[in-house]
Amino acid sequence: MLDNIRVVLVNTSHTGNIGSAARAMKTMGLSKLVLVDPVAPPDGKSSALAAGAGDVLANAKTVDTLAEAVADCGLVIGTSARSRTLSWPMLEPRGCGEKLISEVSKYPVALVFGRENNGLSNDELQQCHFHVCIPANPDYSSLNLAAAVQTLCYEVRMAYLNATRNSFPDNNPEDAEYPLSQDLEGFYSHLEQTLIKTNFIIANHPGMVMTKLRRLYNRARPETAELNILRGILSSVDKAFKNREK
Ligand code: SAH
Repeated sequence: MLDNIRVVLVNTSHTGNIGSAARAMKTMGLSKLVLVDPVAPPDGKSSALAAGAGDVLANAKTVDTLAEAVADCGLVIGTSARSRTLSWPMLEPRGCGEKLISEVSKYPVALVFGRENNGLSNDELQQCHFHVCIPANPDYSSLNLAAAVQTLCYEVRMAYLNATRNSFPDNNPEDAEYPLSQDLEGFYSHLEQTLIKTNFIIANHPGMVMTKLRRLYNRARPETAELNILRGILSSVDKAFKNREK
């Protein structure tokens, strides 16, 4: 899924930023980097800042224009540190991650970043379906290029994890199987009988123990399988008692 997400850096002037962007991408599981007409090609400074993401850097494609970089993409989202005079469909970073993930199985999608000194041109911004702006400090909203790449790739990752978690039912707590209340009640009365047997609860002066234990288990909300373990523990105590009585 993440292989179909392309990070496009337009006309980058600092080669170090290219390396840092590659690193930011790889930490979030992204690998497709496209450089549009970089002022200088990746160099030693890029490699040093890419650190363990040298592979992302080595596989980066260089093209002449943004149009070329996104020609085969079905969704293109441009980034901007400020809202321009031109009003355009806007996304929040969270919605941007969700949108990219929701469409990525249909066609390649792209996230486009601008020049360090003056961002994306109006012409480039108009090649994008949506614009995304990181709602930073209004008095100083311009992030370093690689920091912006990191922030938006993080949102892509969060959306990706959400989407894939939901497709693995075992990992989804909403799909957990919980016991019926009659089974919980059965457990509570079993617990109480066992605790009376061990003298932890004095039958004539039970106090608040059972109420507090009910609250504890209620808060933990045991699943059916977990409740079975608890019942098994109580049965093992019962069995040990029986053996002692023999
Ligand atoms: N002075 C430029 C800022 C460029 S910062 C301008 O006004 O556009 C370099 C790039 O980092 C931007 O083109 C954009 O891709 C990204 N970026 C920086 N801050 C951002 C923010 N708050 N929201 C979205 N992208 C941002």
